[in-house]
Amino acid sequence: MSFLECRGLVKTYADGTQAVRGLDLRCSEGEFVVLLGPSGCGKTTTLRMVAGLERPTAGQIVLAGADITDCSPAERDVGFAFQFYALYPHLKVEDNIGFPLESMGLKRRERQQRIADMVERLGLGALTGRYPRQLSGGDQQRVALARAMVRRPQLYLMDEPLGTLDASLRLEMRALIRAQQLDAGITTLYVTHDQEEAMSLADQVVVMDRGQIRQSGDAALVYDQPADLFVAHFIGSPSMNFISGAIREDCFVAPGLVWPVAERLRSGPATLGVRPELVRPAATGRLRAAVVHDEYQGACRYIHLQADCGRLVMRVADRERVAVGTAVGLDFARALLFDPASGQRL
Ligand code: ATP
Repeated sequence: MSFLECRGLVKTYADGTQAVRGLDLRCSEGEFVVLLGPSGCGKTTTLRMVAGLERPTAGQIVLAGADITDCSPAERDVGFAFQFYALYPHLKVEDNIGFPLESMGLKRRERQQRIADMVERLGLGALTGRYPRQLSGGDQQRVALARAMVRRPQLYLMDEPLGTLDASLRLEMRALIRAQQLDAGITTLYVTHDQEEAMSLADQVVVMDRGQIRQSGDAALVYDQPADLFVAHFIGSPSMNFISGAIREDCFVAPGLVWPVAERLRSGPATLGVRPELVRPAATGRLRAAVVHDEYQGACRYIHLQADCGRLVMRVADRERVAVGTAVGLDFARALLFDPASGQRL
């Protein structure tokens, strides 16, 4: 049974903007679910409806078997962390962290224990006596996270909580969030537009587009078996290569390329998708292309290619040198096919 369920959730704002258009979402108990999608696709609105900060135009939200659609935020047992941390300016770090525990009727000893635990987990030991104005932006964000996680609510809701941190701190913090969430076993709904963050944190990635869910599943599923062109394009950096062509006699055919198709598919227009790491140099490959650019990335190189069927990017290990201006043979380790009209994977 789902622990959190959104059924047919719709949000139309007063100005007519349809931010969420019939969203069905199921989260199991203890699951870390990430809403991922481009700016404006309705992630925050969805989270705010679950938090009780926004009233759904239609639909239902059920948490632990109870319909909470019309409950106030205070009546929902949820902990929030938002990108724009709002700490109490007149409270020191430890009091900010402990604030949510005040009204819970916990004994002083228990409160102090929980605060000490969060302080240690988030590496805030040196800062406990400071006021928010004496902290850097990154430290303020860590305190806000500690405050969100000090309680053990039924649900954590997090909206880009690492948004303003620099890259290395983001990496460290996301490991901490995941460790704390796993320890406490608290179901979490987390919003980000950063696919790397989504893939590294989530048990379930929910890919959204224009107020609807395109696909949900574990990170490997949305990466290896994207349901449609939108997901295929959105997940992965650099993006999947797409080649326009057609299915004819059990082959995908495009200028300079004939790719055998394993299953029987109806003849007609098709788009072939292949991830950059699945493009391989092969002297006797199925495709020839000119090397137009070699992009050094440290651990790997992105080789930009021009073939008769279009531009491609190939990822190779750092040692593999491919000279710009030469022609190379290519093969694909694996490829996917899509219907260009509906966008659906074939
Ligand atoms: P981002 O990643 O940029 O925060 P998002 O996916 O979280 O985007 P939302 O903030 O949920 O998207 O916004 C969804 C749509 O609803 C957008 O078109 C946005 O402009 C619109 N929107 C959000 N809040 C309001 C509001 N209060 N009134 C009218 N439209 C709104």
